[in-house]
Amino acid sequence: MSFTNLVRKSFSYYLRRTYPFKPVITIPRYFHNSAVRYAEVQPSLNTLTEEEESIREAVAQYAQKKLLLKVTEMDEKEKLDPEVLKDLFEQGFMGIETESEYGGSNSSFLAAILVVEELAKVDPSVSVVCDVQNTLVSTLFRKYGNDYLKEKYLPRLAKDTVGCFCLSESEAGSDAFALRTRAEKKGDYYVIKGSKMWITNSAEADIFLVFANLDPSKKHKGITCFVLEKEMGVKVAKKESKLGIRASSTCTLNFDEIKVPESNVLGEIGKGYKYAIEILNEGRIGIAAQMIGLAQGAFDSALPYLFERKAFGNYIGEFQGMQHQYAQIATEIEAARLLTYNAARMKQEGKDFVKEAAFAKLYSSQIAEKAASKSIEWMGGVGFTREFPVEKFYRDAKIGSIYEGTSNMQLTTIAKLISQKYKV
Ligand SMILES: Cc1cc2nc3c(=O)[nH]c(=O)nc-3n(C[C@H](O)[C@H](O)[C@H](O)COP(=O)(O)OP(=O)(O)OC[C@H]3O[C@@H](n4cnc5c(N)ncnc54)[C@H](O)[C@@H]3O)c2cc1C
Repeated sequence: MSFTNLVRKSFSYYLRRTYPFKPVITIPRYFHNSAVRYAEVQPSLNTLTEEEESIREAVAQYAQKKLLLKVTEMDEKEKLDPEVLKDLFEQGFMGIETESEYGGSNSSFLAAILVVEELAKVDPSVSVVCDVQNTLVSTLFRKYGNDYLKEKYLPRLAKDTVGCFCLSESEAGSDAFALRTRAEKKGDYYVIKGSKMWITNSAEADIFLVFANLDPSKKHKGITCFVLEKEMGVKVAKKESKLGIRASSTCTLNFDEIKVPESNVLGEIGKGYKYAIEILNEGRIGIAAQMIGLAQGAFDSALPYLFERKAFGNYIGEFQGMQHQYAQIATEIEAARLLTYNAARMKQEGKDFVKEAAFAKLYSSQIAEKAASKSIEWMGGVGFTREFPVEKFYRDAKIGSIYEGTSNMQLTTIAKLISQKYKV
């Protein structure tokens, strides 16, 4: 049945149920038609296209059938299984929005968001590997790269090569443009000197998008984005041992006077700060998706237990004290999902989405922590053990309020945009 017919049918069903007898007031025909027309042009936020639904389904199947078996081992070893990485490439999850001419899946931003969400339901570490590759690295090439850089790097990023986004440094996190990595022009190449910290995917990566300052006298307007390859001499130094998302690598990188050809400047000289801001605005929606996936994953892991475990002669899920809690969390997960999909759709429609992306990231990370914490409590003692996945979700959730802009920075952005409207 077509979508339109489905809406028509449910609308007349609604009328029959509401007015089982001949209605005193007849619903005018035009109202019926306008409701149908409205539904045609304005689907609900959760309505996916056929393509998006099939991508979501494919990721969910992969995550449940293959990824799930490796989650605990990867977490314990603090290492991404190379087979998982291979799967991500083979399934087409690493170049979701990349055009088919570059070997990508040629799909939408919302599709990328769905992939990140579905992976996070099973493993938020693998989800962020995929998120960074898609929403930060490939998007930077797609948006700002010239044909030469796109042809050189996008096919590799979609097929078999991991990339990373290198902005933060030990003294430059929230204050990212205080970065100290320097670039110097020498003939037809640049020399990059400095180091980066906290770089996701850096242990597996061969391609590094490095933000360096070419002219510190211009402050942030000297920041430029360079494409480095591992073989140019990038040194992967300390790998962090972390509370959560332990299968995702986070390392320090050193650039010891690396020669980079002129052709590897991404976009325009001095525009790196602008690219970083713009890409992180989008990327934030990816982190929101990771967090709603995580929240749903924790919730789905805990709920069955509530209808297996008995106390005082009843299933614990039947106690009102429990019912109200899981109803509340389900509501909050749905609210976070709607914020996230709304921000993604606004981005896709070319609207200004900065505030909505900040709403989505801030709230989803709060809900992820809350849902994972409650899921542990609902399972009692067993929830606290490593026998069940909820304790890992709880550890993994914490990062949502830190990377790609801390929660304080999201609040600052939201407050700034709101106050602009009300200031006289
Ligand atoms: C696991 C992990 C992966 C990461 N991956 C990447 C990556 O791939 N690429 C990359 O470039 N970076 C990455 N980062 C870095 C991350 O983006 C930064 O850690 C983050 O931006 C916070 O910076 P910071 O750690 O220096 O904290 P700080 O900026 O020092 O912040 C510390 C505290 O001070 C607060 N604060 C700071 N300034 C203000 C202010 N003006 N108002 C109110 N509060 C403020 C913060 O909210 C926070 O609570 C990663 C970090 C982690 C932990």
